[in-house]
Amino acid sequence: MNHKTDLQRENNLELKYGFQFTDLFNSQKLKELADTFYNYYEKESPAEYAEFAKYRDTKGAGFEETAVSNILISSARHLEKFLGDFFGISGELDGLKKEVDYERVLLNVKKDFFQKRVFKKFRSAGTIQASYDELNSKVSVIKKVLFSSLKWSEDEERSTAVMIDEFLELEKDYKTLIDAVKTEFNLPESSGNKANEFKNKLFSSPEAKFLFEKFPFSESDKDNFNYELIKKVLELFEHWCIRRAFDKKAKIEVKHWILYKIPLDLNYFDLVHNKEIDVEIPQRMFGKDESLRRRDGFKLTDERYNEREVMSEVEYCVFCHERKKDSCSKGLFEKDGKVKKNPLGIKLNGCPLDEKISEMHYLKNEGHTLGALAAVMVDNPMCPGTGHRICNDCMKACIYQKQEPVNIPQIETKVLTEVLNLTYGFEIYSLLTRWNPLNVKRPYALPYNGKNVLVVGLGPAGYTLSQYLLNEGFGVVGVDGLKIEHVHKDITGYKDEKGK
Ligand code: SF4
Repeated sequence: MNHKTDLQRENNLELKYGFQFTDLFNSQKLKELADTFYNYYEKESPAEYAEFAKYRDTKGAGFEETAVSNILISSARHLEKFLGDFFGISGELDGLKKEVDYERVLLNVKKDFFQKRVFKKFRSAGTIQASYDELNSKVSVIKKVLFSSLKWSEDEERSTAVMIDEFLELEKDYKTLIDAVKTEFNLPESSGNKANEFKNKLFSSPEAKFLFEKFPFSESDKDNFNYELIKKVLELFEHWCIRRAFDKKAKIEVKHWILYKIPLDLNYFDLVHNKEIDVEIPQRMFGKDESLRRRDGFKLTDERYNEREVMSEVEYCVFCHERKKDSCSKGLFEKDGKVKKNPLGIKLNGCPLDEKISEMHYLKNEGHTLGALAAVMVDNPMCPGTGHRICNDCMKACIYQKQEPVNIPQIETKVLTEVLNLTYGFEIYSLLTRWNPLNVKRPYALPYNGKNVLVVGLGPAGYTLSQYLLNEGFGVVGVDGLKIEHVHKDITGYKDEKGK
């Protein structure tokens, strides 16, 4: 981060509604900003605002869990829009939404095709007669004749998903048409045109002859002909996809594709895969070579997921808040109300902060990344310090207990870093630590109350306490014994004896 550039940027920042950047550190102005948001919200959506206002005024007393979740989600959407206007970054927020939409086709094809029709149906490639190479050469014809305009060399995974999706959509419409003999279903014109276009192109290509061998319908029987062709192509795709998962060479190409990522079963007694290397002392174990990571400065945490991998995790989440089952946040309980333990005897308490995890996933799934962060920060304003760094109690208590849990820290980290990467990302994050209307118990920092507190030790507990105390109006001084590594002279202004 370039400190000078940040200061210049903040000086140039033009906020809406007559606010200055320095106002964002003034409790009276923060209150005015909260009132500005309430007015904005009321104008945008009077009904949703009325619910929010009731929740705010009662501080949530008497509201049941799902009602709170719904209010938070709808208010987070409006808060995101408000902050986009306020900081002049609405275009960038739209860009984040578009990134989520871009991945949608993969998520749909993964769920509707790979999970239900490839992995569930076949489980292994053993039942398929044709080899991968045979199937692949047939699919290559379809790619060439119908989908040559897709960016195969740039993003083969997405192109594969788009190709399959086109046929899935047609299948849905044609199936309804064929099944709906007695009901009135009109095939959408676009589907009819597309199916005809596909049929004509394939029919006139000598390379695609294999699709029409032993074909049960004549070309004049238009609808049945098209439906049969769509089914045939989808069956070919099913075989091709499952073969690819098991073919020695081809499976390497799809190793990192989310389309092929299926959650593994959990073996609680082999969570960290070790290789035993000392038979004399079996307790002396080592990790597998491929999982070895050497410590390099502070880069101790996992590699970050990209947008596609994160969205795959979001899609895997079943938004349990809708059924009051979000155990990642609230914990898992026995019938008698006791906290459940996993087979290792670890209590499944869920997030120690009761963070709104399911709601965050829901908002991220809609493309409301900033809204998702605001929802997280109601309970965990210091989220940059948690996530990958401190605990994974949320994952341990995820509703998926027999297979891999949702990778919540990866999603949360992505939500945070996407916001920090916005033009005024840091300023927005920083503002949300002092001003967050979703946090109805303390929506903005109170003015200085004349009392000062010394916080000794600035680990997660110390810095979180400091943040809470500051928002309650205390003056806070924090001290810590951390060894500070070399900080750039642009920040410290300090030059060493060599003048560097
Ligand atoms: S992370 Fe797991 S427990 Fe939490 S909402 Fe998603 S599926 Fe449910």
